[in-house]
Amino acid sequence: MLRARGPGPGALLLRAALGLGRRGRSWQRPQGQDTGVQVHNSLTGRKEPLIVARSDAVSWYSCGPTVYDHAHLGHACSYVRFDIIRRILTRVFGCNVVMAMSITDVDDKIIKRANEMNVTPASLASLFEEEFKQDMAALKVLPPTVYLRVTENIPQIIAFIEGIIAHGHAYSTATGSVYFDLHARGDKYGKLVNTVPSATAEPGDSDKRHSSDFALWKAAKPQEVFWASPWGDGRPGWHIECSTMASEVFGSHLDIHTGGIDLAFPHHENEIAQSEVFHQCQQWGNYFLHSGHLHVKGTEEKMSKSLKNYITIKDCRLSGRSLLDSCLHCCFDSIAEPSRGPKGKQDLPLRCDLHGGTTDPVHILHKGLLNRVTQLPFWSKVESTACRLLQV
Ligand SMILES: [Zn+2]
Repeated sequence: MLRARGPGPGALLLRAALGLGRRGRSWQRPQGQDTGVQVHNSLTGRKEPLIVARSDAVSWYSCGPTVYDHAHLGHACSYVRFDIIRRILTRVFGCNVVMAMSITDVDDKIIKRANEMNVTPASLASLFEEEFKQDMAALKVLPPTVYLRVTENIPQIIAFIEGIIAHGHAYSTATGSVYFDLHARGDKYGKLVNTVPSATAEPGDSDKRHSSDFALWKAAKPQEVFWASPWGDGRPGWHIECSTMASEVFGSHLDIHTGGIDLAFPHHENEIAQSEVFHQCQQWGNYFLHSGHLHVKGTEEKMSKSLKNYITIKDCRLSGRSLLDSCLHCCFDSIAEPSRGPKGKQDLPLRCDLHGGTTDPVHILHKGLLNRVTQLPFWSKVESTACRLLQV
C-alpha cells in the first residue's frame, strides 16, 4: 500500500492513540570510508556523503520483483537508474559493490494469479522470474551479485521471527499467525515516514493486539502453499523476507538499501523496525535510496499495474525498438536534473510525460515521446562520466 510521505491527520491521531510521539530523525553518520559520492538519503531527506564500512565490499540490498506478472517501463527506469549509480560507484570511484536482490516468489498476488491460471505458484513465479532476468539483460542492467528467493530462505525467516519474539517485539496468536508489536517499538518506528501502518493495511487479520501491527508469519489458509513452523503451517509476511535475506548476506549492518519510492512505506519502514530489533542495533541500514515513479499524462498519474496504464518491458523488447535508448534518454535527463540544484532547480519525483495521448508502446518509444524526466536526486557528480560509461 502506498502512502504519502507526509502523515495525514488520521495517521497522527493513530500515532497518538498508540502512545507514539512524532518521529525524530536520528540518523548517525556512518564510520568508514568516504566514497566521494553524495546520495539523497531518504533517512535524512537530503544529500549526504556516501560513507561505506569498506570500499572493497560495499553492501547493497535491492528489493527485487514480485514475480507474478510482466515488468513494465516504470520498473525498467528504476532498475536502470540504480544500475547507473552502481556503475559509477564501481568504475569511477573504485568501490567493489556486493549487491543482493530479493525475488519474492510467494505472496498473495502470486497465489491469486496462479489459481486464476490453474498453475502452481512455483511455476508461475519461475516463469516471470526468468522473464524479469531477460528484461534486465535487454536493458543492459548488470545482474546482482546474488539473487535471493524467499522460498529458499524459509528456515532463516522462521529463525529471524523467533529472534524478534525473543526480544519482546512480536507475538503469536491462537490462529497461528505472528505479528510485529508496534507498541513495543514505540517512537523508534517511523525513521523514513512519520506514520504507522493503517488499520486496514492487512485486511482479514482479526487476531492482532493492535490494528496497526503487521504480519511476520501468516497462518495457512485453505488451498494455499504453506511451510511448517513453530506456530503452525503458514508462510512469511512480506516485509520479513527482506530483513532476513539481507541479514543472511550482510549481517547486522547495511551500507545501501534501494527500491521504488512506493516501497518506503510500509515495506522499508517495517524492514528497519524488524532488523533493528533482531540485531539490537540503532541503525541497520545507513542509506536508503528511492527511485521515483514514472508518470504518465502529466504529473498526476503514475505508471502502475493497478491503474492499467502501463507498457511492459516485454512488449517493448518484442517490438525490436531500442528500449535501452529510451530508458537512457529518461535517465540522462534524470542525471542532469539534480546537478542543476544549485542553480535553482527543484528536487522533484520522477516525472515522465507521454505526449500525444497514445498508449502504443512502439509509437511512444520510436517517436521518443518519453521525455521531460526528472527524478529524486541521487548524486551530484559526474554526469558526463555517467553518460560515457553507459555507452554499453
Ligand atoms: Zn524488500
